[in-house]
Amino acid sequence: MKFKFCPECGAPLVLEMRGDRERPVCPACGFVVYLNPAVAAGTLVEIDGRVVLIRRAVEPRKGYWGLPAGYVEADESAEEAAIRETREEAGLEVELDDLLGVYSFGERTHERGVLILYSAHVVGGELRAGDDALEARTFAPDELPEIAFSTHRDALREWRRARAVTYRTATLDEADVVAQINERYDFEQGRDYRQYVLDPQSELLVAVDDSQIVGFSSLTFHAWNGTANLNQIFVQPNYRRWGIATHLIEYALDMARKRGTRAVIAEAPVDNPVLVVYLKAGFRVCGFIDAYYPPSTHQQSTALFLAYDLA
Ligand SMILES: [Zn+2]
Repeated sequence: MKFKFCPECGAPLVLEMRGDRERPVCPACGFVVYLNPAVAAGTLVEIDGRVVLIRRAVEPRKGYWGLPAGYVEADESAEEAAIRETREEAGLEVELDDLLGVYSFGERTHERGVLILYSAHVVGGELRAGDDALEARTFAPDELPEIAFSTHRDALREWRRARAVTYRTATLDEADVVAQINERYDFEQGRDYRQYVLDPQSELLVAVDDSQIVGFSSLTFHAWNGTANLNQIFVQPNYRRWGIATHLIEYALDMARKRGTRAVIAEAPVDNPVLVVYLKAGFRVCGFIDAYYPPSTHQQSTALFLAYDLA
């Protein structure tokens, strides 16, 4: 038992059934000690396709590598803790992008914890080891060192898998697979994905992991004004949050650039998270229509139009 005496009155605690389990209870004042896991927060920061890791200068697992992370203090939020730990351990000022995952860890009851991990990008500072780190540096997906904790290892495995995804134009067979995905998720009605492959004025782009299509996007080029429409972005649910949508957008922009396109135009419901992905990729809001979506879809939310200027 972690607590022997009542933190309220100092009387010796006894174990008593409370609900479905035994808990330390104070027989003098009735105080019940609830043993809850500690909460930790950390970041997965990418710099030029490489992940920031720090080598631990303290036990446990001294000398092993890990993501910048640590316990959340009582007077800060998980987000604040993640940003602070990244500053303290790796010298970097970061902004958080997305919640990557929540990982439970620890074997013995009083060592149990929950790690909340965010993806983040650098906005300042300089990569260097802090006081409780021996080293701080970046690693490519295929050169990851020995990682201290299973939670970090799990997250980095996911990251490496997402970074192994390749981006290219689709074949006709893949257009059929995209149509199936579209149907399964009821994403958009009436799209002819084969047409995107066959028509020289359009492109179907796919994100592929080990021959499985995990995401797609499509472009339609307009010769008369030199613009292109980025028609949609879709990523399979179990591959989301790992930057695949952003890579699809970057790939589409590259393709448009090579064809001499002046501007790429996209559209998104104002309440859809994909909007943030477009904005982070550099698109600007250039207009809106209230009655763009048919009554049956998107809860009739407003459509925002976005533009990316290439010229
Ligand atoms: Zn007491």
